[in-house]
Amino acid sequence: MSRFNVKKVAVLGAGVMGAQIAAHLVNVKVQVVLFDLPAKEGPKNGIVTKAVEGLKKLKPSPLGVADDAALIGQANYEEHMEQLRDCDLIIEAIAERMDWKLDLYKKIAPFVAPHAIVASNTSGLSITKLSEALPEEIKPRFCGIHFFNPPRYMYLVELINTPTTDSHILDDLETFVTSALGKGVVRAKDTPNFIANRVGIAGMLATMKEVENFGLTYDVVDDLTGKKLGRASSGTFRTADVVGLDTMAHVVKTLQDNLNAETDPFYASFGTPEVLKTLLEMGNLGQKSKAGFYKKV
Ligand code: NAD
Repeated sequence: MSRFNVKKVAVLGAGVMGAQIAAHLVNVKVQVVLFDLPAKEGPKNGIVTKAVEGLKKLKPSPLGVADDAALIGQANYEEHMEQLRDCDLIIEAIAERMDWKLDLYKKIAPFVAPHAIVASNTSGLSITKLSEALPEEIKPRFCGIHFFNPPRYMYLVELINTPTTDSHILDDLETFVTSALGKGVVRAKDTPNFIANRVGIAGMLATMKEVENFGLTYDVVDDLTGKKLGRASSGTFRTADVVGLDTMAHVVKTLQDNLNAETDPFYASFGTPEVLKTLLEMGNLGQKSKAGFYKKV
């Protein structure tokens, strides 16, 4: 029987993942506060409100079975940080940048409740390195909680501990993720990109190289790697657009930064494909910027 009773969750970051994780939590009647950057920081102005509005339009509505009031959009961290104090779980889902995440953890630490679990949705940054920004009293309650995109529908969640995570934390979180969120858990070691992204990104990069080398079209490859093959996925390139090409490039960089060509020649041989570099330089980030491999996604 779990000691961990989750009534209120803070989700930090209202992007591709954070907004939908928040929606899923609301659907299972957990109260949620959803944070993003302060409105004054330019183009992200009002992003939380936009995320909530966008989610309401999805069919079936992720907010359909819960009271909208349960999802409280807050556009400014500094003013609303007090809301963290009564959260049982804090899920960090900001951009895949180690420096940004470390900075954020230092800011939130004074507001974390003494019983709360703090978990990162990073795609593959070292959970142990992330924990180093936290004070000693929070480190035993810190771990990785890696949802897959789209988190409302994908069943898998990877849970990752660090050498300082208390032994019951992953048990408590697994009970919550399976029984309250209705998902399946795989416990992963704290290795670069954990399990699924470590294996998955290699296949995606190899596919991109094939397209470059043999002049294939995205449509044909998506047919071959997606629905026409009987998979639920819409194929390599549509999936990349949904993931976000900036996030994908960060995942590739995590491999490059952490794997040694001598010990891991297979993974270390994958560089960032030229087409991905070009799209990023053009500001085409996939679905979130309305253009990626496909023009209208
Ligand atoms: P995203 O770029 O869509 O959203 C990130 C959000 O974080 C943005 O809204 C940004 O304004 C916000 N942000 C940046 N710094 C912040 C700060 N200091 N405080 C609060 N908000 C801040 O990114 P995403 O795809 O949602 O990814 C979020 C995390 O989830 C990353 O660690 C990513 O690796 C991981 N992840 C992504 C996917 C995916 O398919 N996109 C899947 C699994 C995990």
